Formats: sequence, structure tokens, C-alpha cells
Amino acid sequence: MTTEKFEFKTEVNQLLDLMIHSLYSHKEISIRELLSNASDAIDKARYESLTNPDILEHKGEWRIRISADKDAATLTISDNGIGMTKDEAIKALGTIAHSGTKEFLATLKEKAIKDSPDLIGQFGVGFYSAYMICDRVTLLSRKAGAKETAGIRWESTADGTFTIEEFTKKTPGTDVVLHIKAEEKTYLDEWQIRDVVRKYSDYIEYPIMLETEREEESALDKTLKVKVKKDEQINTGKAIWLRDKAEISESEHGEFYKHLSHDFSDPLKVIHYKAEGTSEFTCLLYMPSHAPLDIFYKEFKIGPALYVKKVQIMDHCEELIPAYLRFVQGVVDSSDLPLNVSREILQNNRQITVIKNNITKKVLDTLAEMKQADYDKFLQFYREFGRILKEGLHLDFAKKETIADLLLFSSTKAEKDKLRTLDEYVSAMKDGQTDIYFITGPSLQEMQASPYLEVFAEKDYEVLFMADDIDDFIFSGFEYKGKKFKSVLKGDIKLDKTADNEEEKKQFSKLMDFIRDQIKDDVKDVRLSGRLKDSPCCLVGDEGDLDPRMEKMLKAMGQEVPEHKKVLEINPAHPLFAAMNRIFEKDSSAPVLAQYTALLLDQALLLSGLKPKDPALFAKNISRLMVDGAEHF
Ligand code: ADP
Repeated sequence: MTTEKFEFKTEVNQLLDLMIHSLYSHKEISIRELLSNASDAIDKARYESLTNPDILEHKGEWRIRISADKDAATLTISDNGIGMTKDEAIKALGTIAHSGTKEFLATLKEKAIKDSPDLIGQFGVGFYSAYMICDRVTLLSRKAGAKETAGIRWESTADGTFTIEEFTKKTPGTDVVLHIKAEEKTYLDEWQIRDVVRKYSDYIEYPIMLETEREEESALDKTLKVKVKKDEQINTGKAIWLRDKAEISESEHGEFYKHLSHDFSDPLKVIHYKAEGTSEFTCLLYMPSHAPLDIFYKEFKIGPALYVKKVQIMDHCEELIPAYLRFVQGVVDSSDLPLNVSREILQNNRQITVIKNNITKKVLDTLAEMKQADYDKFLQFYREFGRILKEGLHLDFAKKETIADLLLFSSTKAEKDKLRTLDEYVSAMKDGQTDIYFITGPSLQEMQASPYLEVFAEKDYEVLFMADDIDDFIFSGFEYKGKKFKSVLKGDIKLDKTADNEEEKKQFSKLMDFIRDQIKDDVKDVRLSGRLKDSPCCLVGDEGDLDPRMEKMLKAMGQEVPEHKKVLEINPAHPLFAAMNRIFEKDSSAPVLAQYTALLLDQALLLSGLKPKDPALFAKNISRLMVDGAEHF
């Protein structure tokens, strides 16, 4: 027999190191993780057995078994599920498959987790968590349907390597043997195992059998007591979504949700219902209380698990939920779909569409209800998932009004710590105001200080603050209750009749021509502004242009961004402009005019969150003006 030695991938070593050295107090979760893996493995075998009955060596009596050997200090968790081939084991138990875990490790400094071990609890730790309670794992596995001699024996002491050798295994599935650490011997006690299973793993629908030892009367001699080993089921063993809603406790939901989602926090909201009529299905859906780390990655698995008559068909069924509700986790169990349903069938299946529409409505209704009845909870949801929900405005034409009614915004009129709804905005619109105004920007502070708001403040028009990267894209051109959204950063805004003041235009026309000529390579045009009150100037895009943040983001990502020149708007009422005009009328070739023009443009760039054209020259010009100014003292 040959033993082969392999090295763990770097991220596995990192994770193992955290597991072994962290002071995390809930080490019992390692048992829950292993039971969760066992249950997943049975789900897979059961699904495969639908089309391949040859793998049913045990006649479909699916079960998980736990046995403790105090003398050898081992705890064994066995399942009769799908098992692993050698290649599968090398991949599954030598790398990290779950992308959330990888992201987590990448963002977390080791020190952070050592100082605060409870952080471990925030992401799915999986198989490797076994090393919190044991110092060696021996895993025996045989793929369901494979020959007895095709089994494997995998072993590691978490020292950076693992070994694999051939192994003859009588039963299909996997035995995970934990060599329990001396200080964690409590996990060999029957009461402790029962307690952990009841607390964390009762949702598992397959029987979890515990090998127990009891004293019984001897059958031969009634005066004698003998020790008898018996298997006893220690979980309820009924699919949680098929149980009576009223009988499921919060903590049972919590544990089932964690099993599904790899999240370690409790869900924010449970939605559990049975649809009857033309289509029969049961849904148990959860809204997480925190956004998963990988929700914006393309590897993120979308959709509830799909079951057909209690058999798991797939663990994430994308066809069951729209992308803008991708944070929803859960289970859908249908009685109408065929058991051999395939991906291709799913894509054009009427039943699936019915279920998807039903779930979408239910989730949106639940959110609307939550917003009414439990605003704080809704706010928590919104802070985590509002950004994703907004995608629905663009993706779901039929539901966009419903989604728009769920949105919340900071605004120039929102009271401190309170957010505004669009309905509130529209009801409070001023006479003569036709559009819904918004400003986009990287932070609330920056938006609040923006010169683009000046004229809106003067007119007492409310402006919504939008800080999400997709806001400009989503809201440009969007309509709510017949009112158009307009970015205050773009287009020609004429709220004030005086902005079209012909007199002013004439008065400054020569100076405007001069400025236009000076910076003709940098801007599309120069015009008098209708949106400024206190600031001297600003840069404005055309209505269809990208907003400056999007532009900056794309550039930072190395994307080619077409150069859209902006319009420089000048505030005719600002004293700076009057001063320039005075100089210009006195001596239209004074060199200071060119310098002032360059500085005007630089100021405008700065106000839109961009850099001056030539930062060194900008600093030099400012310094010179400061020195000149100081001479008046
Ligand atoms: P996760 O369960 O999140 O994928 P784990 O680290 O817990 O991560 O497990 C890694 C992989 O190892 C699983 O995806 C699965 O392929 C395999 N695996 C773990 N335990 C078992 C088991 N009892 N039976 C079959 N495969 C298993």
C-alpha cells in the first residue's frame, strides 16, 4: 500500500492556524460543521440515487452516526452519503472551496482574529474547524457506488500536510475520526454530544444516531447486569420546512439558516409559508442580518435550495429568485416538479416561473410590512442590502414602483438620523418644482458641502443624497409617480429666471469669450450658471454623461473612459467674477487674467472631486496670490 503526502494550499494553512490558535469559545460548532457536511453528502447521494439506483447499497436508509471511544479518545462521525474519491478528497480537503471564506481570510489580518476570536463565528469554517477540538483527523471515505477496495484513508495533524492511502471500506460514505485533544475530552461525553446536536443540528432531516452504552439485565441471568451498546436517534429528524410553523423555535431557525448560508449570525427575518392551488410548494426563506462578504463576487451562489418532495435537487437554484433579491437564503420544496428536473428544464419551466414570481412578491411584501411595523429592523436590512435592492429598479419593470417605495435616502431635508422615502419627497415638493433632484458623491459630508446645492437651498427644493456606486446609473432617467429624477451635477439647471438674464450675458460677454478661449482645450463650453449662489464656479456634465465618481472608478480599474469634456459654469453674482471683469475692462491683456482663469478651472475640478490639471502649478499660483494678498497688511 502506498501512502502519498500532499501540502495544503496557503489559505488552508492560514485557516488552520487561526483555528488552532484562536481562543474561540464555541468550539462545539466544529461538530455542527461536520454534521452539516454529512447531511450535505447524504443530500447528494439521495439525489444521485434517483437516476442511479446502483448506489443504494443500504436501501435508502440514510443516516448519520456518532460514536465516541473514550479509551482511544476518538469521536467518529459517519454518514452513508456520497463519499469521496481520492481526487475529490485532495481537492475538497486541501483547498478552500467556499469563496466567502477566502475573502474573509484575505481581508482579515491574523492579529485581528487573535484579538477578537469571536470573529471566527462570522464566517463558514467548515471541515477545518475540527482542529479546534482535535489534533489529528483521520477520514475514511468510499464513493457511493464504487468498489469496497476503492476507499481512501486521509489523515492530517494540521502541520501543513496531509496523507492519503488506499483503504478497503465496507460501507459507502464517510467516517470522520477525530482524535480529541486532551483538554477537550468533554466532547466524548454522551450528554455533551446530545446537547450539541439538540442545540445546533436538530434541523438535520436524516436520523442522527448516537451509540450509547447502557446497563441491562442479562438475558441469561436476571441477577446480572451487562453493558449493552445501542444506537439511539438524538435529533427530531423531520425536514424543518415541513413542520408546523408555530412549533419551530427561533433557535431552530437560526441553526438551519446557518447550515444553509455558512453565516454565523441569526437571520433577520424568517418567511415560512405553503402555497396551495394551481401550484403546490413550501417555502422557508431567510433574510440575513448581514451581507455576506462575497455577495458582490461572481462566485456568489444565488437562490434557495430546491427540493422536490423532500429530495434536494440542488443547493442553490438561481432560477427561483431575481438577482436583486439574491441575499435571500432558504428552501423551496415543490410537489409539482419532476424528480429528474435538470438545469435546462428549470430555465423554461412554468412552475419555476410561478414560484419565482410568488417568492418575489412575498419578499417585497414582507419588506413593505417590516418597514411599516418594525422600522428599526427594516433600517438594518436596508443598510445591508439597499444597494442590491436598488438593482431591481433597473431589472424588474413590473415591480419598480413597489421597490421604489421601499427605498430610503438621506436628503437636504431629512432630519438627523432619519431617512426620507420617495413618497415623502414627492408630497413635499414645492409649487413649480417638476423634478426629483439628487446628488451623487462618495460621502454624505462631501455631498452636503457641495456648491451644486446652493441654488436648491435658496429655492428650498429638497435634494436626495446618493452614495452608492450604482445610483447615478440607476436613477438617471428614472421616474417615480410621473416625476423625473435629475442629477444636480448634470445638464443645464435653470431654476431661476435670472439665470437667463440677457443683461448679464451682454455685460460679461467679452470676458466670457476670453475665458472660453483660454481653456478651450479643457472644457466643452463656458456659461453663466443658474445653480450657484456662493461658489464662483463649477463643472457640469451633460445629461447622458457618466458621473465623476463612476468615471474615477472606471479609470482606477484601468478602463478606457471616453473623454467627455464638461461645461464650466460661472457664477455671475460672485465678487471674484466682478473683480476679473474690472481687470479685463482696464487691461484685457493683463497676465493675471490667464492665471485667474486657470485657477477657476482648478477650483471647479476640485469641487467635483477631481484633481487640478497641474497640481504643482496650482499650488504655485495659490502661493503667489497669498503672498500678493499679504502685501496689503
Ligand atoms: P463546505 O462544506 O463549505 O464546502 P468544508 O470545508 O466543510 O466546506 O468541506 C469541504 C468539502 O469537502 C465539501 O464541499 C465536500 O465536497 C467535502 N466533504 C466534506 N465532508 C464530507 C462528507 N462527509 N462527505 C462527502 N464530502 C465531504
